[in-house]
Amino acid sequence: MTAPTGAPAPVARPAGPGTEASLAEDLDAYRLALRDHLRTEPALESFRGRRYPSTEARMADHARLERLLHDAGWSRYGWPATVGGLGGDERHRAVLYDELAAAGLPVPGQHMLLETLGPPIVRFAPELAAAYLPAYLRGEEWWGQGFSEPEAGSDLASLRCRARRDGDTYAVTGQKLWTSHGATATRLVCLVRTGTPESRHRGLSMIMIDVDSPGVTVRPIAMANGDNELAEVFFDDVVVPTSRLIGAEGQGWAVAMYLLQFERAMYAWLSAAEALRRLRELRGQLAARAAGGRPVPDGAAARLGEAYAHLVALRARSAGTVRRLAVGDTVGPEASVDKVLLATAEICLHDVARDLLGDEFLFAAEGAAGGNALAAGTVEAAQWRTDWWFSRSATILGGSAEVQRTILADHVLGLPKEAKP
Ligand SMILES: Cc1cc2nc3c(=O)[nH]c(=O)nc-3n(C[C@H](O)[C@H](O)[C@H](O)COP(=O)(O)OP(=O)(O)OC[C@H]3O[C@@H](n4cnc5c(N)ncnc54)[C@H](O)[C@@H]3O)c2cc1C
Repeated sequence: MTAPTGAPAPVARPAGPGTEASLAEDLDAYRLALRDHLRTEPALESFRGRRYPSTEARMADHARLERLLHDAGWSRYGWPATVGGLGGDERHRAVLYDELAAAGLPVPGQHMLLETLGPPIVRFAPELAAAYLPAYLRGEEWWGQGFSEPEAGSDLASLRCRARRDGDTYAVTGQKLWTSHGATATRLVCLVRTGTPESRHRGLSMIMIDVDSPGVTVRPIAMANGDNELAEVFFDDVVVPTSRLIGAEGQGWAVAMYLLQFERAMYAWLSAAEALRRLRELRGQLAARAAGGRPVPDGAAARLGEAYAHLVALRARSAGTVRRLAVGDTVGPEASVDKVLLATAEICLHDVARDLLGDEFLFAAEGAAGGNALAAGTVEAAQWRTDWWFSRSATILGGSAEVQRTILADHVLGLPKEAKP
């Protein structure tokens, strides 16, 4: 796969007095101009409340949304000019997620991995970032993160996928597991072993691999909700140039630790914005149900309030973390606080939806679309059920809740180690 060479699309001037430079410096002006655009742009209308039959369909449609946001300039803020951005920092990206959600629009699914993989590539592989990130921002491609393996998840330093160097190429052999968007991504950013089998975290390197390289096999994994959100990926002597390294050979662990701050912290903000949108939708669905004469369970307001309180706690914490990342602070293990709060909030929101939607949640048939209000409610309940299944993974993906708490105990609180029996 070659580097995309398309010239950057022209930037539509945001309404109001802002210029590109002033919007990069003035966050409030960016927010207001963006808000105006999202609420009035007719091309965005079709993305509101849309449901998708599969991950593949969702990612393809979200790529269209990504392109619209890019071409109007909005999603280019928060990224440097070297990768096709318009300047600004993490706060611009956080505002984008907030405003999309407030306007009833989804955050394109591509941003989960953009937030995870974009910052380390910009920092540790500026040439790769300049070659490939512009196409990511345009919605033309997206990537997967190949860290976990069958025998290496929580204990990542034990991973075995091997990259053997031969001159200016590596031959990569091994397996990755649970690769989000692995079935649709065109490139994978992988953590591989370039040191000896016993070298643990000292012998790891990070490298970008094109999925269409000979020797790469991708097998989608259907989740409990039926979606191919994940994949397992096999590498059989895949030739990868050393120019695809992200950071130096052997520096993979340091790059991964830098990356995890963004995976845990920016992803938490993005997810909180989406969760608030879904909570508002749930409130609207219950109100419609009541207006149609159908029963709403007792205590519904308190349950919605419970979910809201978790989301507010998450956002209060996450706002501080985003500001720290924006000034280049090392958040390090403290990002695990955000990750724990996110998992708690997501589980609570989806449990509340399950409890309040009752029988409809349990029995609604997928794709039961129709013109009447009852059928519309049924489609929404089926979507909540699909999302509920996914929310069960909130305490696993990005590092399990148990491991996050151990990180906090050891590296943030400095608690004494547990005595071995
Ligand atoms: C929806 C989803 C998306 C994912 N996306 C990606 C992705 O894009 N890229 C990627 O590389 N990976 C991805 N993962 C994998 C994820 O990072 C791992 O599942 C996670 O790190 C846990 O690893 P594991 O599955 O091997 O479980 P294990 O590490 O085997 O853990 C099993 C259980 O043991 C507990 N445990 C393990 N070690 C300890 C310990 N030291 N102390 C206390 N408890 C412990 C864990 O908490 C867990 O409950 C994804 C996972 C999910 C569910």
